[in-house]
Amino acid sequence: MTQSKKTGVIGFPVDHSISPIIHNHWIKENNIDAVNYEKINIDPKHFEKEVCALIESGISGLNVTVPLKELAFSFAKELTDVSKQTGAVNTLTFKKGTVCGDNTDVIGFQRSLDQKVVDHNIYNKNCLVLGAGGAARAVVCAIHNLGGRVYICNRTLEKAEQIQRFLQTESEVVDQKDLGDVVGEMQFIVNTTSLGLGNTNNTMINFTKVDQGAFVYDLIYNPKLTSFLSDAQKRNIQYQNGIKMLVEQAAESFNIWHNVLPKNSDLLMNKLEGL
Ligand code: NAP
Repeated sequence: MTQSKKTGVIGFPVDHSISPIIHNHWIKENNIDAVNYEKINIDPKHFEKEVCALIESGISGLNVTVPLKELAFSFAKELTDVSKQTGAVNTLTFKKGTVCGDNTDVIGFQRSLDQKVVDHNIYNKNCLVLGAGGAARAVVCAIHNLGGRVYICNRTLEKAEQIQRFLQTESEVVDQKDLGDVVGEMQFIVNTTSLGLGNTNNTMINFTKVDQGAFVYDLIYNPKLTSFLSDAQKRNIQYQNGIKMLVEQAAESFNIWHNVLPKNSDLLMNKLEGL
């Protein structure tokens, strides 16, 4: 007899994650033989021991969130090209005694964008990425795939230089003190920093200098309207938050584990909007 599949998300802390709502919705909608997708806190100090215990318990797939994506990258025995390219893993799959690492944030970010935005604001345009953490790596790769010219700016300059070297895609690093000089030339501005979570405000950009035709994106989805997006809204600049990316990266992980690419339905989006 085959066992129902067990999947979940690991992070530290992971309590804020809404991934279980998304995955459990699709498990039910697609009649997948799987138990409830769960949130599991894993202390980075005990990563290997705790993930091995989950494997022993029969888990077949895990999403990985902050701050465990780089540890998951080192833990995986087999890596997809895209996870090698980013140096981060957000999807672990356990089968036939091996551990496969993938990164669905890249495709998730790409699929979250309207074609109009890609055509008008990314392809052959200047694109500014704020931040140089795990999410920035995925976003830089995605923008590069879509034909944009990437500029990276981060509080810690060396980390921006580090990802520029690691990713080996064409990009420029902007010192935060020079941001005011270049921001007016950017047609796509994306926040991948954690500024905007909780009570923090993102004041990295002076929005009076941003071009009216630019498109502003914040990877954060809770709150739905961060201070960053609110500043864009006040100047009538188009914007979007990170909820669609979250759903799209989840869909790709779901496909890896269950061989079904679920649809991003209004029913699910309404469920998430209502949270
Ligand atoms: P991370 O690896 O911890 O990186 C955090 C980034 O934020 C770094 O660039 C860091 O700069 C910057 N930062 C933190 N505090 C700051 C401050 N006070 N001032 C200026 N910069 C600051 O995290 P991550 O995995 O990249 O995730 C970043 C955000 O993206 C999180 O909010 C996460 O929830 C979101 N995310 C969303 C999705 C989605 O599907 N929508 C997917 C992935 C991630 P330093 O290098 O200077 O420390």
